[in-house]
Amino acid sequence: MRRKLAAGNWKMNGLAADLSELDAMQDAADGAAEVLICPPATLIGQAVARRGAIAIGGQDCHKSGSGAHTGDISAPMLADAGASHVILGHSERRTDHDEHDDDVRAKCRAAWEAGLVAVVCVGETLEEREAQNTLDIIAGQLAGSVPDGATGHNLVIAYEPVWAIGTGKVPSTDEIGDVHDFIRARLERRFGEGVGRSVRILYGGSVKPGNATEIFAVSNVDGALVGGASLKAADFVPIINALGASSA
Ligand code: PEP
Repeated sequence: MRRKLAAGNWKMNGLAADLSELDAMQDAADGAAEVLICPPATLIGQAVARRGAIAIGGQDCHKSGSGAHTGDISAPMLADAGASHVILGHSERRTDHDEHDDDVRAKCRAAWEAGLVAVVCVGETLEEREAQNTLDIIAGQLAGSVPDGATGHNLVIAYEPVWAIGTGKVPSTDEIGDVHDFIRARLERRFGEGVGRSVRILYGGSVKPGNATEIFAVSNVDGALVGGASLKAADFVPIINALGASSA
C-alpha cells in the first residue's frame, strides 16, 4: 500500500513570516496523506523547528558531500538541517542551471547516501508532447536520472509536464493516467515488481483545489507535487484533504 503524498515546492518564495502558513497546515498533515513542504534553503532550519507532522525537504542538492562549490548545498547539509527529502531534476533546474539526467542521477546518489528521499522530476515540453514523443522522453529521463538501488523508501517520481507548470494548463486525466501507468511499468521492469509497485508517483503541474479530486482519482497517481498552490494553507489544505479522501 503506497501512502499518498502531498508535496509542496515553495521555489524561491518565502520569508520567515510565511512559516505561519506551515502552522496553518498542521491539522491537515495529521490526516491520511503524508505532507511534505520544500521551502527555500534559508527556511529549512526554522521550518523543521515548527513542522509538526509535516516533512521538510530541500529543492536541490549538490552531487558532492562537501567542497569548493560556492553557493551550493550538499545532501548531508540538508539532512543535518533536519530535511528528510530533496527535489531533484525539477524542470526549472534543468532549464535555469542546465542540469541533465547524469547530473540528476549523481545528485540522487548523493541524496541516498545522506539518507534523504529523492523526489525525481520528469516531464516533457509542449513541443515534445505535440511531436508525440512524451513516453520516449519520460523513458529516457527515468533511465538517465534514477540510479540503480531505488526502493519505495528512497525514491518518489514526480511527473511534471513542463508546459503545465505554473501555466494553469493541465493534461487530461487520460493523458495523466497514460504517463503514470507507463512510469509504473518502467519502474517494475527495471527494479522488479515489488519495488516498482512501492515507489510513489506524483503528478505536478497547476494542481489546484478545484482540480485535485479528479487528478487524484487517476490510476497510479499517488499524490501531487504542488508549486503555487502550496504557498498558502488556504489553497494547500483542500488539496491535502482531497488526497486524504482519495485514499479512504
Ligand atoms: C512545480 O513547480 O513543481 C509545480 C508543479 O508548480 P505549479 O503547481 O505552480 O504548476
